[in-house]
Amino acid sequence: MQNLNYWLARNSRENLDIAHDLAGARKLFEVQYFCSAKYKCRQQMIAQHYSWNSDPPVDPCNTCDNCMNSLLHNVQNLPDAKNDVFELVEVIRSLTDHFSEITPQNVIDVYTHAKTKEMKEKRFTESAAYQRQYRRKVLSTKELVHAALDDLILLELVEQQTVLQRPNEHHLTCNMYIRGVKGDAKSTIERREWVYRVSGSKLKHSHR
Ligand SMILES: [Zn+2]
Repeated sequence: MQNLNYWLARNSRENLDIAHDLAGARKLFEVQYFCSAKYKCRQQMIAQHYSWNSDPPVDPCNTCDNCMNSLLHNVQNLPDAKNDVFELVEVIRSLTDHFSEITPQNVIDVYTHAKTKEMKEKRFTESAAYQRQYRRKVLSTKELVHAALDDLILLELVEQQTVLQRPNEHHLTCNMYIRGVKGDAKSTIERREWVYRVSGSKLKHSHR
């Protein structure tokens, strides 16, 4: 992946050894994406990973854990979240123009107007992105905003930097930073359907 930077930084005394491995960071993110998906069919996700554009879509398998969960929780599709995704991308553009070391959580918190200590301390609350009003018609929960952000990263429309550090022999830390939006992201977002799924009980509370 061209846009993603991956740093393996080993702090061996004063010697800071940094290695780039773009493919490694990509794989790391894909594994995390695969593991954290709640209601997406595992077989569909794997099929999408290996598919070509011309391949027909694969039906849900109805046997994997996520398919079982979807049935159990009476999971329903939300309407297309495209307009909310556009808003989210604007948040990222605005933040990356004015701040550095923006975490995925920071993006989510700004878009959802979270009143956290970090928002105040890092002065995100004073930013135009935070003060703007958003419609957020479909991405009504932080979890859904997180899912949309993960999709933007997976589709390489938003650039994420993965920083792996080994502060000592026994520990490895991993930090993710949002770096920016790809120039032609808009047309790809427009072409795609942004469908998210929530359990039937959540649907009743947050959507009509
Ligand atoms: Zn399945």
